Amino acid sequence: METSAVVVAVSNQKGGVGKTTSVVNLASFCALGGRRVLVVDNDPQGNASSVFWPGSVDESIYSGGRPIPTRQEGVSVIPAGLDLADQETHLRQIDGGRMRLQGLLGKYRSDFDLIVIDCPPSVSSLSINAWMASDWVVVPLQCEYYALEGLSQLLQHLSDLEHTTGRAPALAGILLTMHEARFGLGHQVVAEVRAHFRERSFASVIPRDIALAAAPSHGQTILDYDPLSPGGLAYLAAAKEMLHVIER
Ligand code: ATP
Ligand code: MG
Repeated sequence: METSAVVVAVSNQKGGVGKTTSVVNLASFCALGGRRVLVVDNDPQGNASSVFWPGSVDESIYSGGRPIPTRQEGVSVIPAGLDLADQETHLRQIDGGRMRLQGLLGKYRSDFDLIVIDCPPSVSSLSINAWMASDWVVVPLQCEYYALEGLSQLLQHLSDLEHTTGRAPALAGILLTMHEARFGLGHQVVAEVRAHFRERSFASVIPRDIALAAAPSHGQTILDYDPLSPGGLAYLAAAKEMLHVIER
């Protein structure tokens, strides 16, 4: 039977909230669950690429980069590519520049069950391309005070996009990250997000866990590095939840 991948953008214009950590770990646990997963690194920083693919590649997906099988069984990656930073300007200038990624992913949809796109911390043409190409968006949110402000801006961008183009990804869920049980504020953010986004917030909350931060320095996901760590178990649970929502 012909399959067609579900496409998920992991996006938040705020920097350092756990987007890339979520991309690589959700992708690897979904692959463990039997899905054929493609990770598209759509951030010039190339952090997701470096977990899956040592060394640099010349071409991003926009200039002909193709999926490369990784050490992680079931996961392929299209690394960032050295041209990605320039693509950001190029895509802004060309006709149909917002739709490029959607068109390019079309040819891989039948080879994979799930395509996960890592996004830069900005509302740039690269992020807009990811949103336009995606069925769903997962929004990692760091458990801190200003997180909610950024979230409403992001949701506004998505609804503007829906108005102007008739196409925008649906919110698969808000994933709370770097939660520290000993800080009251973390609990407050969790409670507020749950109150506002009841069924659109992941029940799994990702704790702050040194294992999650250390894994990339070994070129590993948490699945390889320490799957039974609190962070590993949290991402396993989050991956299951995500699949439940997006494969409905
Ligand atoms: P950017 O906006 O720059 O792309 P990002 O949103 O992709 O950042 P990450 O790179 O995933 O964020 O995470 C930022 C930093 O925090 C990294 O050093 C990462 O290893 C660390 N980190 C992410 N999640 C956790 C966690 N749950 N516990 C501990 N450290 C974490
Ligand atoms: Mg990142």
